[in-house]
Amino acid sequence: MVETQIRARGVRDERVLGVMGKVPRHLFVPESLRRSAYADEPLPIGEGQTISQPYIVAYMTESLALEGGEKVLEIGTGSGYQTAVLAEIAGTVFTVEIVETLARRARTVLDGLGYANIHYRVGDGTAGWPEEAPFDAVIVTAAAATLPKALEDQLALGGRMIAPVGAGAQELVLVRRERTGIRRESLLSVRFVPLV
Ligand code: SAH
Repeated sequence: MVETQIRARGVRDERVLGVMGKVPRHLFVPESLRRSAYADEPLPIGEGQTISQPYIVAYMTESLALEGGEKVLEIGTGSGYQTAVLAEIAGTVFTVEIVETLARRARTVLDGLGYANIHYRVGDGTAGWPEEAPFDAVIVTAAAATLPKALEDQLALGGRMIAPVGAGAQELVLVRRERTGIRRESLLSVRFVPLV
């Protein structure tokens, strides 16, 4: 998976490549789909939601340029797979999921793997997690028609946010908060489930 799907497509961050080779993705997919856990595609995880394709998880993580120790906000816990990848590299991960059954299932898997640097919340992630702001990095794993303002506001100076944006056609947008203001850059066409 790492060599043919991720490194071959241009992901270069060795930290990200190492983590993608370490986190047991099969534990985050339904048992009936375990044989496909490392395939080059998103998979259904129930409640009409999906676990993102491995390459997209790696690409989005790399775009955050994490070096270790960061405070990260994730919107859309889903299976918890992206959460685990973040928790391996960053200092602390704050993750928000709107569907309670998914949040509970993800937490069970992540607790079982021993991650102690993840904080969980069930609710609408478009509001972010104001009590814990600012964040060095924000990752949104469901698409909004426009970027939620609250999430930009909770970005630290020098911080980065990656999010799929768009109603029909979507693009991954990288947002950077710099001294001179907010910079937005479109990176890649994608298809995510909608943010609700
Ligand atoms: N990173 C996850 C992706 C899950 S799909 C994974 O790889 O498994 C996107 C997730 O965002 C779904 O679980 C969905 O329920 C959740 N979601 C959608 N709208 C949301 C909102 N407003 N707040 C928080 N989570 C939301």
